[in-house]
Amino acid sequence: MQFSNFGNHFSGNSGITTLMEDLSEGLSKEGMIMMGGGNPAAIPEVQAKLKQTLDDLYQSGEMLSALANYDGPQGNTAFLETLAEFFREQFGWNITSRNLALTHGSQSAFFVLFNSFAGQSDKNSRKILLPLVPEYIGYSDVGIEDHMFVSREARIQHLDEGYFKYQVDFEHLQVDETIGLICVSRPTNPSGNVLTDDECEHLDSIARRADVPLVVDNAYGTPFPNIIFSEVKPFWNDNTIVCMSLSKLGLPGARTGILIANEDLIRYFANMTAISSLAPSGLGASITRRLITDGALLPLCENVIKPFYQQRLQFAIDSLRSHISDKRLHIHKPEGALFLWLWFEDLPIASEELYRRLKDKGLVVVPGKYFFPGQRELSQHADSCIRVSVVQDEESVSRGMQLLAEELQELWSNA
Ligand code: PLP
Repeated sequence: MQFSNFGNHFSGNSGITTLMEDLSEGLSKEGMIMMGGGNPAAIPEVQAKLKQTLDDLYQSGEMLSALANYDGPQGNTAFLETLAEFFREQFGWNITSRNLALTHGSQSAFFVLFNSFAGQSDKNSRKILLPLVPEYIGYSDVGIEDHMFVSREARIQHLDEGYFKYQVDFEHLQVDETIGLICVSRPTNPSGNVLTDDECEHLDSIARRADVPLVVDNAYGTPFPNIIFSEVKPFWNDNTIVCMSLSKLGLPGARTGILIANEDLIRYFANMTAISSLAPSGLGASITRRLITDGALLPLCENVIKPFYQQRLQFAIDSLRSHISDKRLHIHKPEGALFLWLWFEDLPIASEELYRRLKDKGLVVVPGKYFFPGQRELSQHADSCIRVSVVQDEESVSRGMQLLAEELQELWSNA
């Protein structure tokens, strides 16, 4: 096959491909503890509510209608109206349905946005700035040109009891005419960090000064799925593009993302959808519209989804600490999302080697090195971290943490 440059970009292996392959390989091996992937947990109350909603939509004919019709390229009109009202009520944001567009999952929105604002143009070549890495592995290969990211490694704030928190290193953050877009996830995958309100406002003013959009990836944030444990202000304005998703609510198979942006950007995005895929999927829209109009969505997020992950994260931390109490183990303060981000100071091997050793023992995690797109050289810190998902049942999480602790003890005692 002779590919174009565009084709060549997708013919190699990326971090996300490795992760997806491991996920399916692990699933086929008996006894493997899968703490690598980003799938949401199968929470019984959530699944029961989704099943009941699907039953209702089936009975009422709305499911058939969602599947038997193309929506417009911006997405299902009734859902967009419902959502606009929902965001006005929840956050007081001055938005209408013209500020909203549906996407095939938020991942596809990043593909469009990153390549629309960064890369080569007649005038210049611009890059995507990630102001704080570690960042979401799924951004890494989304740019279709080489070297489309620049990033700034986070500052580390040490907290009590072996916790730490990342902060944006504003002192060394350079934003000039070579930057076309700034992107952050809040809460952040992998670290569970939540940017403070001050950090968001600061980034907003930097983005405005540079006249580039600020993308806030809200895949885990409020108001849904609401896997966020710190009190922060939801953030949107006409220079900010908020990307939301139904995936972590429990519907990754619906492949539905939501973009909140100014009207020009939404028109642009709808054109892109019309050209590349005609229309977004309507099923996720129908399910979520029903959950909103029934008044079920917010209580489900607040009373079921959020406490589930908060408890499971704490359980994983307690399990790990019951097996190891070494001062070189640092845990990022879990402020949101589904992951523990662990930093092993003075680790005598690289994170990928640790990943291989753990996999041989029956535990799959993700090596930290993949979460630093835009860094020319990997720092020692970056290569001494791993991401651990906590969606598995407690028994598996507990066993996984035991295997990890054993491996660390062996490594550190031989160091
Ligand atoms: N953003 C972050 C931070 C994520 O962790 C993920 C998935 O894991 C996504 C976006 C992609 O979500 P979607 O399923 O909507 O494409």
